[in-house]
Amino acid sequence: GLDAAFFLRWLAAVAAAVDREADHLTELDAAIGDADHGSNLRRGFTAVATALDADPPGTPGAVLALAGRQLISTVGGASGPLYGTLLRRTGKELGDARRVSVAELGAALRAGVAAVAQLGGSAPGDKTMLDALVPGADALGAPDAAGDPFGAARAAAEEGARATEALRARKGRASYLGERSVGHLDPGASSSALLFATLAEVTR
Ligand code: ADP
Ligand code: MG
Ligand code: MG
Repeated sequence: GLDAAFFLRWLAAVAAAVDREADHLTELDAAIGDADHGSNLRRGFTAVATALDADPPGTPGAVLALAGRQLISTVGGASGPLYGTLLRRTGKELGDARRVSVAELGAALRAGVAAVAQLGGSAPGDKTMLDALVPGADALGAPDAAGDPFGAARAAAEEGARATEALRARKGRASYLGERSVGHLDPGASSSALLFATLAEVTR
């Protein structure tokens, strides 16, 4: 099973990946938004890493809940409440278990993604983070050809993010561009793919 230490390693890896990719995420947002997605997430996940370091919670659910609260309180943009809700709701679903299976994480994450869709009033196909989160969460726990329980989720999220290039945005700032949003990757779908890429790399 996955313990609190696993989730602490995952969120530290997310913070490092967001820091590394921040300029790229901001460039994607410059094309169809307001050029702040990378800096928004960098601020948020730096706060997450600092809070988890200072007082590491003892259960997976509490790690995710604390991270979600930090994102909500530190990120001003649309992505803060959405990612914050994702982590808080996923954490709440895991309850106070000290260890969770990959299947339990998958079910909790699907509930977290549903909460994002509800908060955003959005669905897959709207060219948002949901275009990576939904396929990623749906594939979590289905082992890939190499037997990796996170590999299929990583590939599905990456493919979902890639496919946003052809879509017209129907939610968020990019929707103001209408047809002109076509031909650009959605920044939030690209950052969501990072969540699954790092999950596949955390040592268990
Ligand atoms: P802001 O748009 O407030 O500047 P960010 O740039 O940090 O916030 O995040 C933008 C990303 O948030 C988008 O690329 C998209 O993936 C996601 N997003 C925006 N609105 C919604 C929504 N209603 N539902 C789901 N995701 C959304
Ligand atoms: Mg923005
Ligand atoms: Mg903004």
